[in-house]
Amino acid sequence: MTKVLYPGSFDPMTKGHMNIVEQASDLFDEVIIAVMQNPLKKSGLFTLEERMEIIKALYQKMNNVRVISASGAAIDVALLNECKAIIRGLRSLSDYDYEVQLQQINKEMSNNKINTICLFADKEYQFVSSSMVKEVFNLDKDISRYVDPIVWERMLIKKRSLIR
Ligand code: ADP
Repeated sequence: MTKVLYPGSFDPMTKGHMNIVEQASDLFDEVIIAVMQNPLKKSGLFTLEERMEIIKALYQKMNNVRVISASGAAIDVALLNECKAIIRGLRSLSDYDYEVQLQQINKEMSNNKINTICLFADKEYQFVSSSMVKEVFNLDKDISRYVDPIVWERMLIKKRSLIR
C-alpha cells in the first residue's frame, strides 16, 4: 500500500490544489492531505481548524483521501504516517527553484527515506494560487473558476463575520 503526503497551507484550497489531489489519488493507494501551520506565513484568511473543516467537507466522499493537520516539518509528518513520498504541485519556474531546495532538504533530513514527487496541474489551473484567489475575492468578483462552491461559501461567511 503506497501512501503519500500532500502538505500545504491551503488557505484556501483551490481547484489547482484539488487537481493535484485528484491526480495523486489516481496514482497512489492513499493521499494524506496535511494542512500545515506555518508560523513564518503571516496570518491568513482561515485558521488551521477552519481549513481542516473545509478540506474534510471537500473530500468526505473520497475514501482514499485523508485530511490531517500538523505543525512543524512536513518530513516528520510523512515519516510518522509512513508515507513513501511527499507530493508537491509545480506551477512556474519560481515554484521550481523553491521546490528543488525543499526536496533536497527533505531528502537529507529523512536520510533518503522520503522522496518528493512533483505533479503539474491541468493547464486551466496552472496559474491559480491561494493568494490570487483571495485578491480576486476581495474585489467581490466571481471566483467559481478557481475554488469549489464549498470554499467560496466559507469565504463569504468568513468575510461577513469579519465585517460585523
Ligand atoms: P505552501 O504554503 O506549502 O506553499 P500552498 O497551499 O500554497 O502551500 O501549496 C501547497 C502545494 O500545492 C505546493 O506544492 C504548491 O506549489 C502547490 N500548488 C498550489 N497551487 C497550485 C496549482 N494551481 N497548481 C499546481 N500546484 C499548486
